[in-house]
Amino acid sequence: MRSRGAFRPPGAGRCFAMQADLHVHTTASDGTDSPEEVVAQAVSIGLKTLAVADHDTLEGIHPALEEGRRRNLEVIPAVELATDYSGREIHVLGYLVDIESGSLHSELAFFRRTRLERVTRMVHRLNGMGLAITLQRVLEIAGGGSVGRPHIARALVEKGFVESAEEAFGLYIGEGKPAFEPRFKYTPAQAVAVVRLAGGVAVLAHPGLSPDDGLIQELVPEGLQGIEVYHPCHTPEMVSHYLKLCRQYGLVATGGSDYHGKDHSKHNRLGACAVSRRVVEEIRLLARENREKLKAGRREPEAWS
Ligand SMILES: [Zn+2]
Ligand SMILES: [Zn+2]
Repeated sequence: MRSRGAFRPPGAGRCFAMQADLHVHTTASDGTDSPEEVVAQAVSIGLKTLAVADHDTLEGIHPALEEGRRRNLEVIPAVELATDYSGREIHVLGYLVDIESGSLHSELAFFRRTRLERVTRMVHRLNGMGLAITLQRVLEIAGGGSVGRPHIARALVEKGFVESAEEAFGLYIGEGKPAFEPRFKYTPAQAVAVVRLAGGVAVLAHPGLSPDDGLIQELVPEGLQGIEVYHPCHTPEMVSHYLKLCRQYGLVATGGSDYHGKDHSKHNRLGACAVSRRVVEEIRLLARENREKLKAGRREPEAWS
């Protein structure tokens, strides 16, 4: 059964054409399945294309690409960047970014450094409250991926300080709770620029979670090229609204499950909100054009359109 509020494009799941899940996470960030596991599952449910879009890291891409080649599944290199827009968290997806791009790697390294600094401060705060967890253990739990609050939560559960990750967030590390620390974030426009400079296609992720049409209008001249129209949290009304905006601004309408793993409390249905291969072709075409523009040295935002 689909979860409350979830919506998939007409025919998704039944329709053979809906074979591309363009938004999945792995253990490289806060997903609970490894890149290889996610690819294997995608094959088993009949998907043909999968975009691995971990938070602020490309670590999951190479293993996913390799497994995809072995199992004949197309893997799209992607990344999901968390940004701040007037105090609200806005996510920007970058599709077909050049995974060898030096500028992208240094931006992501900066992101990871700020994550690490933030986690360090939060562990200190927790220690000061008598909750003895170590930074080393939190990093081990993160397994070399993007370290963040879910990993602190697991360390707290492991030590028996809380019963669940939800409790850890509710008592200590959620926004406004005593061990919470904010972290540096880009603005959405900066994230769009990071994606475009790496030759990728910038797409606004799940806009229905923090609706702001003004932001979309603002990001189009900055190089935004798509909206994630189909997402498990979007209602049918949101889907029609964002489809309309895609038509209005000439943006590609993408979709994906935002899968975080079988055992995740939400977003645990791989293949939900999958889209047709036509969308993948549109993204590939845009990425090709973006790379050509980059090669031609036209890096000014005016040249994006
Ligand atoms: Zn997101
Ligand atoms: Zn996501």
